[in-house]
This record gives sequence, C-alpha cells and structure tokens, in this order.
Amino acid sequence: MNYQQILENIYQEIQPFAGIGKQADYIPALAKVDPDQFGICINTIQGETFMLGQADTRFSIQSISKVFSLAVCLSLEGDELWKRVGKEPSGTAFNSLVQLEVEKGIPRNPFINAGAIVLADILLKHLSHPEEDFLHFIRNICGNDTINYNEEVAVSEREKGYLNAAIANLLKYHHNIENDIERVLHFYFLQCSVEMSCYDLSKAFLAFANHKQPFTFGDINLTASQVKRINAIMQTCGFYDEAGEFSYLVGLPGKSGVGGGIAAVYPLRYSVAVWSPRLNRKGNSVMGIKALELLTTQTQESIF
Ligand code: GLU
Repeated sequence: MNYQQILENIYQEIQPFAGIGKQADYIPALAKVDPDQFGICINTIQGETFMLGQADTRFSIQSISKVFSLAVCLSLEGDELWKRVGKEPSGTAFNSLVQLEVEKGIPRNPFINAGAIVLADILLKHLSHPEEDFLHFIRNICGNDTINYNEEVAVSEREKGYLNAAIANLLKYHHNIENDIERVLHFYFLQCSVEMSCYDLSKAFLAFANHKQPFTFGDINLTASQVKRINAIMQTCGFYDEAGEFSYLVGLPGKSGVGGGIAAVYPLRYSVAVWSPRLNRKGNSVMGIKALELLTTQTQESIF
C-alpha cells in the first residue's frame, strides 16, 4: 500500500476544511496554540513510517493520555478495575456530571474525565512515584526519553478546572476516590499535559495495534486479550459523544484529545496519529477526523 501517496492526496482533499472550528480555549494555555497546524504519521507493524505536515511537532495529548492510564491500571489491577469504572459509551460530553449522579459515582467508562480521575486515584495507590512512573511508561512505549509533562498547561488547566474539581468531589462523595482530591487532580492534570508528536503517538499506539506481540514495558505487562479489550473500549468510547459517528465514518478504534490529536489503530496492520487543533462542537479535531475518514476510505482498510 502506498501510504505516502495516500497521505499526500488526503492533505489536498482536507484543505476545504482548514479554518473550520476552533482550538480548545477553556484551558487558557491551549488557546495560545496556532490553530492552523496539521500533521499525520502512520507506523506499520512491519516497521515502515509515513509522515506528512507537522508530524514532528509536539502538542498537548490531553485525553489521549487516558489510554495510557487504562493500560497501566489494567496491568496493575486486572479486572478488579471494573468495580470502580464501567465500560459503556457515555453519550454525553467528556466532562459531564449527569450520569455520575445517576450511577452513584461509577463513571461510565475510563475515557471520560470522571473515569480517568478514578484511574488517577487507582494509580496513586499502586505507584511509588506516580508522576515519574507514568511518564516512564509513556517514554518506554513510544521509545522517546525526552517526552515530558508541560507544567504550564497543567497549572493553567487547574486554575480553571472547576468542572473536573466538581467531578472529583462527586466521586469522593460516592466513595470512589480514596486519596485527597487535590492530589488526584494534580496527577490527572499532569497526565493530560503530556506533550507528544504524531510520530511519538503513532509509535506508542503500535503496541495497541500489534496485540500479537508481548505488551511489556518495564513493569507494565498486558495480555493479548487485555490489549484487544482496550481497543474495544477505544472503539466504543474513544470520541466522547461522537464515538458512533467516528465508528461510522472511520471504522478504527481510537482516542481523541482536546489538544486536537487523535490516535487510532488498524489492528495487526498500523497505528496512525493525526493532529490539528481546530475542534468541532463535540471536542474532536475537524481536519483530524476528515483525514482519517479519507484514509480508511481510500485504503479500503477498516475493521468493518
Ligand atoms: N484535560 C482535559 C479536561 O479534563 C482533557 C479533555 C479531553 O482531552 O477530552 O478537560
């Protein structure tokens, strides 16, 4: 498959979508990002790399970090984890409080904020140096030791993080947070602030694309079945309340973030990461979704 040529075609075809949407501005540090950037990178399990645009530029991965948290939590807790968080699509916004009240503090899935805040609490219980250990895992899985948190973004989000603080309080009220709320939020915001390029993200997601290879990164190990199940949750819950639309248009498991990034996998073939900061009303990258729709259409490769 000539992926490079396909990426070049896609780049031309998405130009009419340039300028549509706007970058996340509820996190003040993200509002400063130049919105008119685009990068994409494919890594195949055979070891080929195809890149286009600003695929080497680092951006805030935001909720894509929730996939890494889930991987570490599953490795540490196994199925015990599912006592504290569900695996059903939410059908509501990523920061919604509504279902949390109805379901008595059990978040619908690990990829909405409430779910990831519970995961942060679980990681604090298991990891002796949570911030260092989490970063170490990400550096390991993408093979880049220079990956880091952006503390300015984390602090900026904390300053305006009223909704996430409300979520954490509701979780605590329902006894689904064990640690101090401020400690949990500090770790959660740092996780969201990790900066990676499309190249780094695509490299990291190869481990999810290739579930037939051992998933072993330092002390974090998953079985092939656990990796497949993470992909299943990406498929059903990876795009806030637009997971159905993404499945319909693209047909790959993936996860988006409000930094404008999307990482997705075509199991046993490739992983892809795309980034463009302008978001639609559901919080997903406009050009990112369009590019992935064109990728699976033009290659005729999707899981369906
Ligand atoms: N840090 C963001 C928040 O909690 C993550 C949202 C996202 O990327 O979906 O609001």
